[in-house]
Amino acid sequence: MEFDKELDKELKFKTSKNVPVSTTFEEMDLKDDLLRGIYNYGFESPSAIQSRAITQIISGRDTIAQAQSGTGKTATFSIGMLEVIDTRKRETQALILSPTRELATQIQNVVRALGDYMNVKCHACVGGKSVGNDIKQLAKGEHIVSGTPGRVLDMIKRRNLNTRQIRMLILDEADELLSHGFQTQIYDVYRYLPPGTQVVVVSATLPKDVLSMTNKFMSDPVKILVKRDEITLEGIKQFFVQVEKEEWKFDTLCDLYDSLTITQGVIFCNTKKKVDWLAESLRKSNFTVVAMHGDMKQDERDKIMNEFRLGNSRVLISTDVWARGIDVQQVSLVINYDLPLDRENYIHRIGRSGRFGRKGVAINFVTNEDIGTLQELEQYYSTQIEEMPVNVNDII
Ligand code: ADP
Repeated sequence: MEFDKELDKELKFKTSKNVPVSTTFEEMDLKDDLLRGIYNYGFESPSAIQSRAITQIISGRDTIAQAQSGTGKTATFSIGMLEVIDTRKRETQALILSPTRELATQIQNVVRALGDYMNVKCHACVGGKSVGNDIKQLAKGEHIVSGTPGRVLDMIKRRNLNTRQIRMLILDEADELLSHGFQTQIYDVYRYLPPGTQVVVVSATLPKDVLSMTNKFMSDPVKILVKRDEITLEGIKQFFVQVEKEEWKFDTLCDLYDSLTITQGVIFCNTKKKVDWLAESLRKSNFTVVAMHGDMKQDERDKIMNEFRLGNSRVLISTDVWARGIDVQQVSLVINYDLPLDRENYIHRIGRSGRFGRKGVAINFVTNEDIGTLQELEQYYSTQIEEMPVNVNDII
């Protein structure tokens, strides 16, 4: 086992000192059937965050883990959690909260796959799905629950989700969970958990105010953080197209459509209404696209997600409901039809491409009014967003 002196030195104000680094999964001393699950899932060696954070989580310490999008944070907490679960006890021992239903379901699938040989039971407890089914599943005693805050809180209050044996709470996309919309629900859930429940906080972005909030429910956490300017994603080329006016975005997008279909692409708009409008307008112009946002029925959302994951649809238009955590490896192009309203979501949106070191391209549509915002993003992330070259297809 080595110690990560370099990283510590560089990040001395943020990260905890002397966090050990396991360079292989074997070194982490995991249960055999978990190790088998990891290899069978196709992982050979741990990523930087996995090398550092998995053993900390297993040690029982409260943990704050920050690493860039697509570097394996989901597997980090899933492996840590699976190692400490006792599958002989048919009771819920770990709870994972995430901000969107799709993400909670994706995490359930990763946990099930990694825990395949452990016979682990993991239930996704999300809004928009049958409450009756949740009640039935939870009564069977699921080892792990991955859910969205509202439904989980509801299940706890109704006493269908028994919290007595819960020993670990994971907040994925923690800064989003601790922001405006969700904060009260998160604190409410936390209050129902046994005292001393281990808390693990994970995100690619953890602004200072969020970090300071963690004092309320974490004790002496180990912090494994990367500097802000290191989180722009190395493999993702970022460009802008100066469209001048809002009305000129549409034609620009039509010109780029072929690039979008080279593999798969996601187009972000800032409102649900605009997503609907853009999808409709593109279809009228004979382009094939799918669209997804939070006002759609969950069945429909699920159908679109499945088709997109299978690669049957190649161009997806969405809101920030798709900005965080969703992992579709084939996505190589992200277009910000609108620049995001908050700067954290910029990095999350573009991080939908370039998963686990793959190449990615992000293209920002910039009206005259947006120029200042683009410069702020460049400054905040110490990155350069260049004008899109004519041969952009060669880069994708
Ligand atoms: P994050 O949560 O950091 O955004 P994910 O956990 O979704 O990233 O992982 C991104 C992708 O990388 C996923 O497709 C995942 O299966 C893959 N991945 C994660 N860890 C490894 C690993 N150690 N080896 C190979 N692929 C990995």
